[in-house]
Amino acid sequence: MTIASFAVHALPPPRQAVLDARGALSAAVQGRVSTKELDRLAYARDLLPLATVWARQGRVPRPPDAVVWPSTDDDVARVIRLARELRFAVIPFGAGSGVCGGTIATTGGIALDLKRFDSIGPVDPQRRCVDVGAGVMGETLQRRLEARGWTLGHFPASIAMSTVGGWLATRSAGQLSARYGKIEDMVLSVSGVLGTGERFETPERPFTGPDFAQLVMGSEGTLCTFTSARLRVHPRPEARVFRAFDFSSVERGLDAVRRLFREGLRPAAVHLADPFASAFDAQQPGASKSSFLPGLAGALATRALSWPRLLNPLGRVVTKCRLTVMFEGDVKHAEAEDRGAAAACLSMGAVDLGEGPGRHWFRHRNDSNFRRAETGASFDTMEVSAPWERVLDVYQRVRAAAGSFAVVLCHFSHASADGCALDFTFLGSAVAIDAAEARSEHLWRTVLGAATSAGANVSHHHGIGLQKARAYQDSLGEGRHALATLKRLFDPDGIMNPGKLGL
Ligand SMILES: Cc1cc2nc3c(=O)[nH]c(=O)nc-3n(C[C@H](O)[C@H](O)[C@H](O)COP(=O)(O)OP(=O)(O)OC[C@H]3O[C@@H](n4cnc5c(N)ncnc54)[C@H](O)[C@@H]3O)c2cc1C
Repeated sequence: MTIASFAVHALPPPRQAVLDARGALSAAVQGRVSTKELDRLAYARDLLPLATVWARQGRVPRPPDAVVWPSTDDDVARVIRLARELRFAVIPFGAGSGVCGGTIATTGGIALDLKRFDSIGPVDPQRRCVDVGAGVMGETLQRRLEARGWTLGHFPASIAMSTVGGWLATRSAGQLSARYGKIEDMVLSVSGVLGTGERFETPERPFTGPDFAQLVMGSEGTLCTFTSARLRVHPRPEARVFRAFDFSSVERGLDAVRRLFREGLRPAAVHLADPFASAFDAQQPGASKSSFLPGLAGALATRALSWPRLLNPLGRVVTKCRLTVMFEGDVKHAEAEDRGAAAACLSMGAVDLGEGPGRHWFRHRNDSNFRRAETGASFDTMEVSAPWERVLDVYQRVRAAAGSFAVVLCHFSHASADGCALDFTFLGSAVAIDAAEARSEHLWRTVLGAATSAGANVSHHHGIGLQKARAYQDSLGEGRHALATLKRLFDPDGIMNPGKLGL
């Protein structure tokens, strides 16, 4: 079954069995239940790019039969117990910013919106932590913490449209993950409700024995619903120091990033743009247009997307890549680390561009997706990750695989001493809407296959959803049986978010 099998042409009415259970559902959540067409439509999809194509075709994925808004753990437990009894699927819903089809109600059922879990506790300055509800929006949390002089250090590009629960469920990573880690590194403990209807609260770190919190994080609603988390916070940084470098090739840029980490430097952000991404970024409003060739390539990239076969070979001529690093913390340490990074990069032949491009990147780091959508071209993204030894091969194989039908851009980010994430963008000429779906499916098969055959992990932080379910299961090997056993234990009736992670 392909992912497209979940698109339907018109909104089917809610199933009679769910309408019959409306009273019981309503009692479970103090009346906050809806079977209205508009609500079901709003919860029918996330930001899976293919779902945008469906929307343009007037098609929607199968919607949930009902939407509920619980506000306590007991409400959630009651909904789950009722769903077990009546065999309805339950789909936890954060803000719907996922890009892998993680909230699509493959078998209908109940969308469980967690946004009423919106409490943000006081920061404990001694323990440096804060208790947060799973439905709190990222931007709200960050602003609230900043106002009190703290930061979580978690800045996904989707911070304005994603929730804490969604982050936990997908193992999200922010743009400063090189310093603060991914969300799973920030968690001291989590609470929620299993697919059995039992409540759980994990012990607070540090402890010994199996780590239950790590077992359920990344489970994308297939094992449990998160209701709250205790998260580590840090004092708001005193200073941010930016610097950008040009390298003559992707290989050199990657070598430099690896070296920074192996020398013990901990930049908050590390962002290496491949030649086309550097060129494209140079076209963004306000960007410094210091170099003619990247500028020309960028202009071409926006205007000549219908010629990927002609455009991609330009990558052999335009090889310059831009590395942006940012250190934050107290002034003395941030500046000392910046000097260390500059010395390492310059000794590897980089050209120092100063702080301007870095500051510009930071200011506009969340704009680019929307700018690309404006070009009228077809547009898709894929993120994967790889250990350092495989990063270059993954990059080259994906480029080669997609090169005949899409202009390929790549950003390398979320670096650590072990490896990094590769964030690909595929730009193609606009096609008739009827052909867009087939092209997207072909693109995904080709590029994800190329990446995994070169040794990439199927996802670094966007999750698995429906989009990468098969590839994820294939990547597990024998581990697939252990995951299936866990699913049977935590969700014995298979009601929790069916189909996601291939479960
Ligand atoms: C433009 C754009 C940029 C993005 N940039 C980033 C980025 O920089 N870093 C990053 O990590 N991601 C990024 N994403 C992806 C997305 O924002 C993340 O996956 C985010 O964590 C999803 O949060 P959400 O609250 O919107 O979850 P949703 O989309 O509502 O749900 C995602 C999955 O989590 C499950 N879920 C949601 N809440 C809960 C809960 N409380 N308990 C159990 N399961 C739950 C859902 O069932 C679903 O399977 C980006 C997306 C877009 C559109």
